[in-house]
Amino acid sequence: MSDNFLLEKYNFKMQKKYGQNFLTSAQIPSRIAANCTDFDFSSGNCAESLILEIGPGAGILTKELAKRFYYVLAVEIDEELIPILSESLSEFKNITVVNCDIMKEELASLLDKYRRKENGEVLPVSVCANLPYYITTPVLMKLLEEYGSFSFITVMVQKEVARRLCSKPGESDYGAITAAIGLYGKAEKLFDVSAGNFNPKPKVDSSVVKISIYDPPRYTSEQIKKTSKVIKAAFSMRRKTLVNALLGVSSGQYSSKETLSELIEKKFGNKNIRGEELSVEQFALLADIILQ
Ligand code: SAM
Repeated sequence: MSDNFLLEKYNFKMQKKYGQNFLTSAQIPSRIAANCTDFDFSSGNCAESLILEIGPGAGILTKELAKRFYYVLAVEIDEELIPILSESLSEFKNITVVNCDIMKEELASLLDKYRRKENGEVLPVSVCANLPYYITTPVLMKLLEEYGSFSFITVMVQKEVARRLCSKPGESDYGAITAAIGLYGKAEKLFDVSAGNFNPKPKVDSSVVKISIYDPPRYTSEQIKKTSKVIKAAFSMRRKTLVNALLGVSSGQYSSKETLSELIEKKFGNKNIRGEELSVEQFALLADIILQ
């Protein structure tokens, strides 16, 4: 039975408040599922991973994930979708749907329940989602900050957000979220998806972005904590120079404008440099020196 037919059968009404724009053909979910990890599916084998899907909707992407991965855990906030999902996904034995708000879940306890195979082997975990637009950034930050052991996080987001996630220092789209992601992994755009592929049709096009999490991690949790503080401060006042933006957070010998200016001039060759021009490595270096 098609997903559309099921939505009609259950008299389902799309909820704007949950960012419901459902994909309408299996072609795009299939492409997303095939590219959301580094597994080579040409062998015909299934990838030994647990996939967390946020917001399965009617299950169009969930099915494509279940065909390729060992297990899929799908978290859906809208209880009206639960009976629809149990019917649309009934042929798959490797999917669990949980009715909850991903923002309120403790990820470790949720995922650890599904990571272990019967033989005790622990599965690597990745995320794949056509994200509800209203919580793109908070969801990404929660995933990155709260759970240290994802392999890949692949998300469909608005095209302009994708540009931001994947931009480079000095580019106009480079922002706090770009630098923050760089602490955990490398973001790349996989492909664009035009608005006509969704129901209801959104006002803007989308892109699929894949974040490959560094393994082993590049930074310790203490370095991440400090650097995140510096990144937040640097981008909170976009038009200010880095020196002015960081004065409120720098401590010890660098708490005065003079010493902080000197340091920034020495490290980056320009005391008037702005936060938008710094790479994540430079933010980390700075955090190490100015936060004691
Ligand atoms: N995966 C489906 C697809 O591609 O057609 C639906 C994607 S739709 C853009 C976003 C989905 O996320 C909806 O099913 C919505 O109900 C769900 N959702 C929204 N907020 C959520 C939250 N906080 N926690 C879990 N699911 C959420």
